[in-house]
Amino acid sequence: MEEISTDILVIGSGLAGILSALEAEKSGLNILLVSKFAIGMGTNTSMASTFTAANSRFSKEDHFRATMETGKGLNQLNLVKILVEQGPEAVGRLTKYGIPMVEKGMGYVMDQPKDSFQMPGVLWMKILKERLKTTSVRLLPGLTILDLVVEEGEVLGAFGFFRDEKPYLIRSTAVILATGGAGAIFQRNDNQKSILGDGYALALQAGLPLFDLEFVQCYPFVLAEPRLSSVILLAHPKGERLLNEKGEDLAEALGITGNIHHAVMTQRDRLSIFLYEASQKGDVYYDLTQLPEEAWNRFPLNFLKKSKFPFRERPFLISPAVHFFMGGVGIDEKGMTALPGLFAAGEVVWGVHGANRHGGNAVTECAVFGILAGQSAVEYVRQKQVSQGPLVNPEVLSKRWERKTKAYLRKRRGVFDHPRDLLKELRSLAWKHAGPAREESSLKEGLDALAILEKRIERVYPATRSDLFRKRDLESVALLIKSILKGSLLRKESRGSFYRKDYPDKDDQNYLKNTCYRLGKGDIEVTLRPIPKG
Ligand SMILES: Cc1cc2nc3c(=O)[nH]c(=O)nc-3n(C[C@H](O)[C@H](O)[C@H](O)COP(=O)(O)OP(=O)(O)OC[C@H]3O[C@@H](n4cnc5c(N)ncnc54)[C@H](O)[C@@H]3O)c2cc1C
Repeated sequence: MEEISTDILVIGSGLAGILSALEAEKSGLNILLVSKFAIGMGTNTSMASTFTAANSRFSKEDHFRATMETGKGLNQLNLVKILVEQGPEAVGRLTKYGIPMVEKGMGYVMDQPKDSFQMPGVLWMKILKERLKTTSVRLLPGLTILDLVVEEGEVLGAFGFFRDEKPYLIRSTAVILATGGAGAIFQRNDNQKSILGDGYALALQAGLPLFDLEFVQCYPFVLAEPRLSSVILLAHPKGERLLNEKGEDLAEALGITGNIHHAVMTQRDRLSIFLYEASQKGDVYYDLTQLPEEAWNRFPLNFLKKSKFPFRERPFLISPAVHFFMGGVGIDEKGMTALPGLFAAGEVVWGVHGANRHGGNAVTECAVFGILAGQSAVEYVRQKQVSQGPLVNPEVLSKRWERKTKAYLRKRRGVFDHPRDLLKELRSLAWKHAGPAREESSLKEGLDALAILEKRIERVYPATRSDLFRKRDLESVALLIKSILKGSLLRKESRGSFYRKDYPDKDDQNYLKNTCYRLGKGDIEVTLRPIPKG
């Protein structure tokens, strides 16, 4: 087993993780940044483009109001205030790091040539990665964290396996969790494939509660053609059409008379639910055949134009898809979780968005709370340096994790179900039973079907270490799906992104509350709790 010691460990190299590492590094402390893949790769950040934050035409009051209105009463007020107050400065920090940001609409975008073929998020990641190389931050791409090391109520580091399958024990005074969301646990999603909610599982297993996991935001249109990746369709030019199998105009049926783009901006959830229900009855198509030539020369349709698929010649399959998780781990105003030494930032965190996310607020959240987590982790380490030495004898800790490694790798007899097939089954179960429109009977059926899948997962025989990772993915994905199904059963109303067909109205009297998820004896317990006063 490889052992590394550092002052601050950052898990995840999306925007939240990188900004927290860059911020913490200024202190001169030792910072280690780890991620599953190459730095910045496999992140949802690399697909994003727009920051919402106050600018010369959009005030802080406007930003606050828009965020709270979208969150439908479930936002954590203290966190929203920080987001709004510090948003412009956090975006400004990106400019200092070499990403030129300009004002646009309700916030900022990267200043890039109009005919640029590069996704803005990919460009941010490239620039920030270069920036990291000029600092003392130690990078360890290819390390998947499987456990947080917790002793006597404090986090002391993390344990994982490197891509060469070597086990790693990382001792760290503070840890920043920046592992992103969990969109890819659903069959239809526009996230990166590996965004499977590892951070949520790590937090639950470390004894932390999670909140509001049942609030999952969808985007109405992603590509659903079998051999193409499910890319989000952001362009909505004049002349586009939404059709069913019979060629009937679905937008018309929904009462959308104007531009579909406007409907995506103003009725995203309604459109997602409508298309989800339409797609249960038959295929849904997007038709761009009537667009003028010049539309294909502009971003992002110029991407589709380059594809071998005949997007210009015939309508193609589309579907709504899971886009973002509003729920997650709780933090205080310093970005610290309820577990001393563990900080969190980015999509893994709960609270800012409430029952739904205002567009552009996710990356602003990453910037604001990434920087904050970096600063607070430094403060925490400094205090620890003054107050005490290590809580646990290093040798004792090594031995404990050597034993755990052996337990992980112990060969077991079992029935062989291929983990990849099981993951596919889990993801389609999530989409079918916890998709954009939910109801009691289907949620209960989902739980029954999941219980059977869980038994099959238990019996998976990890023949190689890669299978071991896959088995871990299956266990944590199953746990998350169970949480969402249970939380959705408990919430008998509709609010924000959360829609129950059998309870279509908002019910403030009974459900203006946050949902709290805790891992009990191997099972998930879900309760409602009053919204904390912020
Ligand atoms: C297609 C798309 C477009 C979007 N557009 C916008 C937009 O324009 N504006 C906006 O505000 N939001 C947008 N969002 C949402 C936004 O991109 C994300 O919420 C945000 O980027 C998440 O950043 P993050 O740093 O929290 O996580 P990510 O960027 O997703 O990074 C997560 C990191 O954690 C690592 N990781 C995970 N688990 C482990 C583990 N066990 N061990 C080690 N490393 C691990 C991953 O490898 C990765 O490096 C979009 C999302 C999508 C999917």
